[in-house]
Amino acid sequence: MAQGPYDCIIVGAGPAGLAAAIYAGRDRAGTLVLEKMYPGGQIANTDRIENYPGIARIAGPDLIEELRKQAESFGAQIKTSSEVTSLKKLDDGNIGVSCDDESFVGRVVILAPGSSYRHLGVPGEDEFRNAGAGVSYCGTCDAPFFKGKKVVAVGGGNTAVEETLHLAKFAAEVILVHRRQEFRAQKVLVEELMAKVNEKDSNLRLWLDGQVVAIQGKGKVQSAKIRNVKTQKEEDVSCDGVFIFIGMVPNTEFLKGFVELTEQGFIKADCAYLRTKVPGVFVAGDCRVGAAMQLATAVGDGVLAAMMMKQYLRNPSWWNEAVSDALQPGGW
Ligand SMILES: Cc1cc2nc3c(=O)[nH]c(=O)nc-3n(C[C@H](O)[C@H](O)[C@H](O)COP(=O)(O)OP(=O)(O)OC[C@H]3O[C@@H](n4cnc5c(N)ncnc54)[C@H](O)[C@@H]3O)c2cc1C
Repeated sequence: MAQGPYDCIIVGAGPAGLAAAIYAGRDRAGTLVLEKMYPGGQIANTDRIENYPGIARIAGPDLIEELRKQAESFGAQIKTSSEVTSLKKLDDGNIGVSCDDESFVGRVVILAPGSSYRHLGVPGEDEFRNAGAGVSYCGTCDAPFFKGKKVVAVGGGNTAVEETLHLAKFAAEVILVHRRQEFRAQKVLVEELMAKVNEKDSNLRLWLDGQVVAIQGKGKVQSAKIRNVKTQKEEDVSCDGVFIFIGMVPNTEFLKGFVELTEQGFIKADCAYLRTKVPGVFVAGDCRVGAAMQLATAVGDGVLAAMMMKQYLRNPSWWNEAVSDALQPGGW
């Protein structure tokens, strides 16, 4: 027998889900958060956050603990070890949410299952997988920790190029390793990259036809093994860090056939109000199309989805109104 109906079921207790829970709970909505592991999401893996507005520096687990306590103080119930495996729209308009051995009903669902950085899958990657030890997946987050150091970056798409240019503002030396001769990134970005590479005494150089096949060190990254994909010749390159920019994988496998997904698996939604194609189902955070993949924006999404929930509950037909003339700012 399904439990509920809850006013709001949130899938995922990362920053987006917890922010949504704070707002929904504070609005006195009966709120249930289902989390497959424990509250935290990706940010629980870092001990240094320096770009969350208003907080100069905080460890991920500390911030999450505050978010969790705040959500619970407003009445949100957080259920851990509860992986959502499927959802369905019910005849009465509510949404059925199933975990392995329990099921729930919500009037509204906010999907916030996040995404994961795509891994290279090479020896050493897991061992050094936090910025303190030298492997990072986020230049925007971690570049300042490598000021004056030598780093290797990996990738060839837009994010790789943008993040590498960002790294070059901090590191003494940056080597961008890409497995092809051409970059997939937009032309304008590639032009910017080449302009930087071609500067006199540039601190940025390219290593094309290259593949990082191992990350090595003792306690911290000390070198990367780079293989030439054409000659198979390998070389150890000394460095203090390896930045891996080869894409994100959204945690949306379980949503296939329920909401619309992009080819890469990101949840399609209107970016103004975060409505998916299924009435009553919102999306928030890193799993949505167009996400900025940052803590602050994930939190902002959670807030927005919880605010828009009120508009939907008040007037369900709002769901199908166009973004442009649906709602005046603040009109919820
Ligand atoms: C090492 C590291 C350092 C970072 N540093 C910074 C930084 O300094 N500044 C910054 O702005 N950003 C940083 N980021 C990015 C930031 O962590 C993310 O943008 C943010 O966590 C996204 O929040 P989210 O809630 O959308 O998703 P997530 O944080 O991914 O949380 C999603 C949650 O949903 C749960 N979940 C997934 N599937 C299911 C399911 N089927 N059922 C139930 N629960 C599910 C997951 O277990 C997880 O707890 C960093 C990321 C990493 C990995």
